Amino acid sequence: MTVSQTIRAAALELGFSACGIARYRRLDEQASYLERWLRAGKHAGMEYMARHVGERLDPALLLPGVRSVIVCLAAYGQDAVLSPGTPRIASYAWGKDYHFVLKGLLGRLLEKLQEKIPGASGRAFVDSAPVLERRWAVEAGLGWIGRSSLLIHPRLGSRTFVGVLLTDAVLDCDEPYRENGCGSCRRCISACPAGAIGGDGTVDARRCLSYHTIENRGTIPPQIAEVLGNRLFGCETCQEACPHNSGVVPALSPLFAPVGGLPDVRAQEWLAMGSGEFRRRFAQTPLSRCGLRKLKETVRLIVADVGLPEKGPEKGICDL
Ligand code: SF4
Ligand code: SF4
Repeated sequence: MTVSQTIRAAALELGFSACGIARYRRLDEQASYLERWLRAGKHAGMEYMARHVGERLDPALLLPGVRSVIVCLAAYGQDAVLSPGTPRIASYAWGKDYHFVLKGLLGRLLEKLQEKIPGASGRAFVDSAPVLERRWAVEAGLGWIGRSSLLIHPRLGSRTFVGVLLTDAVLDCDEPYRENGCGSCRRCISACPAGAIGGDGTVDARRCLSYHTIENRGTIPPQIAEVLGNRLFGCETCQEACPHNSGVVPALSPLFAPVGGLPDVRAQEWLAMGSGEFRRRFAQTPLSRCGLRKLKETVRLIVADVGLPEKGPEKGICDL
């Protein structure tokens, strides 16, 4: 077995759903795309997106001497039956915060690499540093970036977390993924309730319900509240619309098993919750980054808009 084969097998043993390896290069061709997106203000209040553009284009600024980029995907698609009156939480947030889970796994993968190549150095990134993770996933042969701007793996669909391990080890690499499986499909664009997905496949965060329910630290603007529906944390409408997610069997990975009674937490329960209970139930989940006060504000908008539904149980938002 080559070192690359050992690493790919080790990644699957650790619980990742797929692993590919890309050869290091500068991603200079991404510069104009990034610049246009930023200049148009589509990053909304995510000022960090405008910083460290150099590092985004060249990971050698994050790990000097980098030669290979190991990319791992972890599928999180799950299914659930919700009680009436349950505001929806995007399925990625039902379990432990993926940042910590994936970073731990990538650390163990680096140890495996160092068993094979003593002295190899590496640095792990999970959606928290200036790394173009989805672009590296394409480079590593794991899928394409769809019009929804999400990475789509041909077998796993779009509900995957992406972790990147930069290393100075020279590894056999995969070929970049060259097809674009979107073809003439535009379902995500039509399905988006906020018109956030442009024809060019960029998402305007200023309109996106995921941004407003998770990242926006201010008040959700009225024109966004009008199309909020019962989305409390995140929005998966573009993913539900994507044909590459239908037929994907939801696999409840123990890595991301729901905690704290998620996702079946009703509106009344949120509104009555105290900070101690919130911490106890959700401190380990992505919800903690958003905070109870913001969640309650959003629940109030939901109740004002759609009320508290009285019909029977409904399928969860990630009904695949
Ligand atoms: S997450 Fe929701 S609002 Fe954002 S682009 Fe997708 S469908 Fe539109
Ligand atoms: S819904 Fe269609 S256009 Fe959008 S990402 Fe999926 S395949 Fe591509």
